[in-house]
Amino acid sequence: MKIICIGRNYDEHIRELGNERPEEPVLFLKPDSALVLDNRNVRYPSFTSDIHHEVEIVLRISKAGKDVSVENAGKHFDAVALGIDFTARDVQSRLKAKGLPWEIAKAFDDSAPVSSFIPIENFSRSEGIFFSLKVDGELRQSGDTRQMIYNFEEIIHWSSRFFQLNPGDLIFTGTPSGVGPVHKGNRLEGFLSGEKMLDFMLV
Ligand code: MN
Repeated sequence: MKIICIGRNYDEHIRELGNERPEEPVLFLKPDSALVLDNRNVRYPSFTSDIHHEVEIVLRISKAGKDVSVENAGKHFDAVALGIDFTARDVQSRLKAKGLPWEIAKAFDDSAPVSSFIPIENFSRSEGIFFSLKVDGELRQSGDTRQMIYNFEEIIHWSSRFFQLNPGDLIFTGTPSGVGPVHKGNRLEGFLSGEKMLDFMLV
């Protein structure tokens, strides 16, 4: 399986990092070694001292597809989860300043905790899907899928131009504003439509 991630998909988050609104979706990948399931603890990496949380809705691909149209994209995912796109912001900033790829700042081990999945038909898309993140009990981020620049179907369409989608692949759909540092010993709790989905420690 592979993990595809969308960057810069919420305007307020683009502004907080001083980035430009993309002319097309920004894509990057994480390997399967990034994935953390079942609310297992996340190991704080040794190469950075500035890990940021980015809480995101995660799509689960249910059907293989290449060059999927926006109209057909809804047939290719069946469930959503909550995930954290952990980012070594110090490393990313250093590499971005040099114009270098920032893979190691995003794709490191344990950088993608993902909750259990909820069938997509359980949600009303028109009302938006709300999600939030607390760190040590303090609300840090909250978002609503209606704030997304590119919606789920557009993300699947765009991703599948470059990467064949296979059942079990995951797509991180971008983070709202409020990203910030986390430290060893922090407890992270993530909520999807009011239900607690993530609850783990950074160790
Ligand atoms: Mn992200």
